[in-house]
Amino acid sequence: MIPYGRQDISKADIDAVVEVLRSAFLTQGPAVPAFERVLAERCGVPHAIAVNSATSALHIACLALGVGPGDVVWTSPITFVASANCARYCGADVDFVDIDARTYNMSAAALRSKLERASAAGRLPKLVIPVHMTGQSPDMAEIRAMADQYGVRVVEDASHSVGGTYRDQPIGNCRFSDITVFSFHPVKIITTGEGGMLMTRDGGLAERLRRLRAHGITREPAHMTRPAEGEWYYEQVELGYNYRMTDIQAALGLSQASRLDAFLARRRALAARYDTLLHDLPLTLPYQMPGGCSAWHLYVVRLQQDRVRRTRAEVFRDLRARGIGVNVHYIPVPRQPYYADLGFDAARWPEAERYYEEAISIPLHAGLTDAEQDRVVAALGDALRGP
Ligand SMILES: *Cc1c(COP(=O)(O)O)cnc(C)c1O
Repeated sequence: MIPYGRQDISKADIDAVVEVLRSAFLTQGPAVPAFERVLAERCGVPHAIAVNSATSALHIACLALGVGPGDVVWTSPITFVASANCARYCGADVDFVDIDARTYNMSAAALRSKLERASAAGRLPKLVIPVHMTGQSPDMAEIRAMADQYGVRVVEDASHSVGGTYRDQPIGNCRFSDITVFSFHPVKIITTGEGGMLMTRDGGLAERLRRLRAHGITREPAHMTRPAEGEWYYEQVELGYNYRMTDIQAALGLSQASRLDAFLARRRALAARYDTLLHDLPLTLPYQMPGGCSAWHLYVVRLQQDRVRRTRAEVFRDLRARGIGVNVHYIPVPRQPYYADLGFDAARWPEAERYYEEAISIPLHAGLTDAEQDRVVAALGDALRGP
């Protein structure tokens, strides 16, 4: 089976991990801050906080921005469930903003009209979490302008887009958001096994995020409520978590980060090749906004239902039977039983529903060969034609 995504681990990656295993620190050593520095520099942002997953990152991002019971957080319906769950962890309510028909990112137009209605009803969200679907940035400048107008905070879920650019600047520089979150799950652009990172320009937020990552404990005398009782002294000043990344993971992340440009180049070359090879099939291919560069986490094709006589499920089943590890990203979050039980009716997000009926993610990862890609293209052609 050719998987839709998978990690690419080199000898150098393995050596970097083994070196940590032989060293004094498996966690809370030098590799974590080194990994944070490398990505902060790459993104052109002063603060980076590594954690044990993007899910943890989203959770403490919400907490640090003051999300709690009675608040509402908005995200996209076409995302992994973690983008919405983070608000629920904080006791807040969730709502969804429909996607743009071309980019599959949160629609700026839908956000504008929803903000107008929410403002009139006196129920504005505390926070919006736009998602960089497939590795392409949402229209962050527009989203930020609207958020500022209504006094709403912004967290970018950039789990798909480490290394991408928006308006010719690195994603993660937080020019248009309070916090940007990356994921290092093995199917993402670079991996640490499990892992995530928060980027921010705000020193106060960074301090708070570091504390929430480690039990709510501070060792900074300036942040303590009482005088130190000795050199052993530390204070837990709020309720935090153990969301730390290990040095074993960070060493892998550092080594992977040194290969990031090679990964991106390969993903871009494969995406461009798909664009050419799939051009004549009855598919809608990924649309790219000008001025930015996707990190190409996913290559999503949509069946043109007026030109294909088979359903998405039939095409999907056929591709799997032919050894092509296709997937669907994503089932709209409001369709999940947990959210449906909270009263969500997915029909309220019609663009997300249309997308979901037609979308298939085909294999795209740095280790995919041209020959494997040719097999995917041939299988897709056969599957669309049907028996
Ligand atoms: C992968 C992913 C997450 C969760 O990342 P983890 O590191 O696995 O916790 C969150 N949001 C999106 C959009 C993702 O793709």
